Amino acid sequence: MQFEFASAARIIFGDGSAKELPKLALGYGSRALLVTDSFQPDSVTSLISALRSADAQLTHFPVSGEPTVEVIDQAKAVALSAGCDLVISIGGGSVIDTGKASAALIPNDGETLDYLEVIGAGRKLAAAPLPFIALPTTAGTGAEVTKNAVLGSKKHRVKVSLRDDRMLADIALVDPQLTHSVPAAVTASTGMDALTQALEPFVSHLANPLTDGLCAEGLRRAGRSLRKVYAEPDNAAARNDMALTSLLGGLALANAKLGAVHGFAGVLGGMYDAPHGAVCAALLPPVMAANISALNAREPENPALKRYDYAAQFLLFDRAASAQDAMDWISETSRIFDIPGLRAYGLREDDFDEIVAKSSVSSSMKGNPIALTADELTAILRAAL
Ligand code: NAD
Repeated sequence: MQFEFASAARIIFGDGSAKELPKLALGYGSRALLVTDSFQPDSVTSLISALRSADAQLTHFPVSGEPTVEVIDQAKAVALSAGCDLVISIGGGSVIDTGKASAALIPNDGETLDYLEVIGAGRKLAAAPLPFIALPTTAGTGAEVTKNAVLGSKKHRVKVSLRDDRMLADIALVDPQLTHSVPAAVTASTGMDALTQALEPFVSHLANPLTDGLCAEGLRRAGRSLRKVYAEPDNAAARNDMALTSLLGGLALANAKLGAVHGFAGVLGGMYDAPHGAVCAALLPPVMAANISALNAREPENPALKRYDYAAQFLLFDRAASAQDAMDWISETSRIFDIPGLRAYGLREDDFDEIVAKSSVSSSMKGNPIALTADELTAILRAAL
């Protein structure tokens, strides 16, 4: 057995931990590019005030929506003219990825596209990224501990990653209290993303004993708190569980990759205006069904088959649970959360061939437990409509 495990240099988790930010930030730099959402909940506004009261010079870069190549070019220009020596992101996955990509590209010449995989020149970073501190305000992506930033390109109608081992954050500061203000629909979609990210690395052919433990714990926490956090948004224990599920999933995916759900999600997110987690929710049961059927037909000895049952047992706290029980539970959760099929976001059969072609070459697809055929991928899309 051989594996490697990489993560953020330091992970700080717990209710109230965000108040450490000013002190921690000053250890890394004094001129920060601060990336936040355009809309800031009160908890984030107070954090910004605390940062301003410390000795840090802030260049605030608010963003809306998921990051694009153009937004990163703008952030880089702003940071260069302000002489920033540190990047801080306080926000959801979109904000974290904006900060992470900016930290990577500020010290490197050229444009964002030059460094992107699949659609760009895939240039390697010559200079190390600026120090980067990430504070998630959603519980879904685990982006605070991953080494990639997902960026959209309008021109190519796809989302792809900027990736480098050195893009891991210097500090992931995870304060579940920052997620209490997340509205119900976002709690639902981000929660489904967190669940997917605890499951896909667990059945990935790149799974290792460390990621297995992280995924098992993430699946248990999601099983007991995913529906609860939607029903009781102020339930601190449930918000803690989901913040932890997100963190555990991020740690796992950064080291064991994902699978077909995220292989599709990156492409669909670039083509349609749909929340990332809602796309994951619609795809998860049909991807599980397709993988299990393909494994039974072509690789019945593949350990992923048993792993799907184990995942169901962790998720449902039931030693007799099977993968089918997990699929039923996930579909029922989507119904409770009012997450629609992908047709609601504009997915059309006419686009299937383009989506299948683009998804087949995505990085996440490489973690899938078995290579799926174009017909199998098409059938997944039809089932997720
Ligand atoms: P998001 O960051 O786009 O935020 C969704 C919405 O929630 C926004 O409207 C935002 O303003 C709002 N919001 C965020 N925090 C809030 C709070 N505390 N209170 C009230 N409103 C709040 O959503 P997300 O799901 O966290 O991130 C999605 C992005 O992350 C996508 O671009 C996806 O591709 C990317 N992603 C990255 C990785 C990675 O490893 N880098 C992994 C998975 C997903």
